[in-house]
Amino acid sequence: MTNSPMPLLRIDQVAKSFGKTRAVDGVSLDIHENEFFALLGPSGCGKTTLLRMLAGFEALDSGQILLSGKDISPLPPEKRPLNLMFQSYALFPHMTVRQNLNYGLEMERLPRKVIRTRVDETLASTDLTALADRKPDQLSGGQKQRVALARALVKRPKVLLLDEPLGALDKKLRERMQLELKRLQHEAGITFIIVTHDQEEALVMADRMAILKDGKLLQAGTPEEIYEEPADRFVANFIGIMNFLDGEIDGTHAFVVDGSRHPIAVRHGPRKATLAVRPEHVRITERADGLGVVITDVAYHGLDRVLHTKTVASGKPLQLRLSAAEGQRYAAGQTIMIALDAAKCRIY
Ligand code: ATP
Repeated sequence: MTNSPMPLLRIDQVAKSFGKTRAVDGVSLDIHENEFFALLGPSGCGKTTLLRMLAGFEALDSGQILLSGKDISPLPPEKRPLNLMFQSYALFPHMTVRQNLNYGLEMERLPRKVIRTRVDETLASTDLTALADRKPDQLSGGQKQRVALARALVKRPKVLLLDEPLGALDKKLRERMQLELKRLQHEAGITFIIVTHDQEEALVMADRMAILKDGKLLQAGTPEEIYEEPADRFVANFIGIMNFLDGEIDGTHAFVVDGSRHPIAVRHGPRKATLAVRPEHVRITERADGLGVVITDVAYHGLDRVLHTKTVASGKPLQLRLSAAEGQRYAAGQTIMIALDAAKCRIY
């Protein structure tokens, strides 16, 4: 009863080297139907190579890729029900928007009427109906982006693979397109796998995401899981803002930093450790045994204010996030006592 359903896509111990570089190093991942899945990691971590292997443009050294339980590794790209949208939009410049969309369906030799209906539907859902007769050089960057997306969607792939799809857009348009992509994915009911190096973009859009580094999978999970429970120090640092404090666990559920004791949920015996805590899980306290910090800057972020501080005893940097109203009471140069939210601290 509780068995998880067979994933749409199973990536099983997949590996690929280029010479001595292990671009993808034994990655296993399950991706489910209708999921918006993000592959995230720093430059060179193997995201694009993994995506190209899924699309069939890169052969596997070892491992398997199963689609609905069937090994698709032997299939050439055009035989796979996965469609890759390239970083460069690769639109045909001499064709109108409509012709660009028609093209893929004509190649499939679909009846004219079917092509017409499907293209009309796709133009409507991507807000391109009014631009159907324009050529790519008469479109803005964001519009070209939408056409590229429409051209991929019109073929109704089971899975759409997107490599940095918003990379060429400015910040504002990028944020709008993030929401639009999410809406389109939801409406089309297609599984999206998106490659990005932008953690915020992944957090905003993805149902689940995977963090890669040096070809290895470090963690896969929902944005919340990865933000709240990062598997290691690298992930903790890569996603969102994280404070790290070096100190000692004293064996009595307490972490000691600069002589100040902080309860934590960890039981391990005495040892040196690094504690990680998000700025929103640091509180200001009146207690004399808190950790003393000096405020170095108060940064206004609209809804909240971030206090940048340094610990009094050893100058360790520490950020706190407060509501804008609460943060207003503090200024650079003040010394305050802080406490850590025990349940939210992680030890590495
Ligand atoms: P970016 O965000 O910079 O695009 P990425 O995470 O997509 O990076 P990949 O393009 O997958 O990374 O590359 C992974 C590693 O494999 C890198 O070290 C890269 O230099 C190497 N690599 C990728 N393609 C080739 C190739 N065709 N020949 C040799 N090395 C390659």
